[in-house]
Amino acid sequence: MAEEGEEAPQPPQKRFYRQRAHANPLADHTLRYPARPQDMDWARLFPAFFPPGAAATPGEPPPRVEFADLGCGYGGLLVALSPLFPRTLMLGLELRLKVAAFAGTRLRALRGAGPGRGHNAACVRGNAMRHLPHFFTKGQLSKLFLLFPDPHFKRPKHRWRLVNAALLPELGFVLRPGGLVYTVTDVPELHRWMVAHFGEHPLFQEVPLAELDGDPVVSRLATATEEGRKVQRAGRPVYPAIFRRLPDPPPLPV
Ligand code: SAM
Repeated sequence: MAEEGEEAPQPPQKRFYRQRAHANPLADHTLRYPARPQDMDWARLFPAFFPPGAAATPGEPPPRVEFADLGCGYGGLLVALSPLFPRTLMLGLELRLKVAAFAGTRLRALRGAGPGRGHNAACVRGNAMRHLPHFFTKGQLSKLFLLFPDPHFKRPKHRWRLVNAALLPELGFVLRPGGLVYTVTDVPELHRWMVAHFGEHPLFQEVPLAELDGDPVVSRLATATEEGRKVQRAGRPVYPAIFRRLPDPPPLPV
């Protein structure tokens, strides 16, 4: 919540944050990202979790992000998950400058609504196809979200797709064994593409949706985000798929 005498930030208005639908994820954007996760100013993003003057408890690691929403768009999933997991830090990575700014402002404004609202969620501009190990250490994350990723229908643009053979080892690096990747799309061909890529990778295994009956995230995958709501309004079907990070295979004999 805003301190006494300090004005709570206002929720952003979308009309000031409009941007072209697609940014090229392979282009050299002028993005700022830390050289290493420990160089990031996490306290600036999550001040409620790093109170000034509070000494770190010896032997206890500082709070760390556990959930990442890759291509979080306007931040709807983080808004929905923040009160469900109030002690869990979650970060959205969004490539488009104005969209990332909107999501960040929206989450900060939410904090004015009271404890447990948005304090654990933040968004930064970043390229999930290039910078994941700059933000997260090995095995740091327990959940990753790829909701309605851009389908890039034309074959020459398939290499712009977020799920691709080069990204999967990085997802496997930042996600801990047992961690989950949640995907959903309204494009059947992209769904098959994602299932095939994860299915072929030795670090991932598809989880039957029936196994995740009690998981409060599952029912929100298709409805919490702006893209999901658009699809819902249009009455189009959606295709969720969830993958578990398997344990590392034993090292090869030398
Ligand atoms: N997940 C959000 C939702 O469901 O509303 C946004 C979906 S939108 C179709 C896809 C988003 O992914 C866009 O905002 C786009 O800018 C972002 N994006 C695409 N490639 C990205 C990348 N390499 N890194 C980070 N964000 C990316």
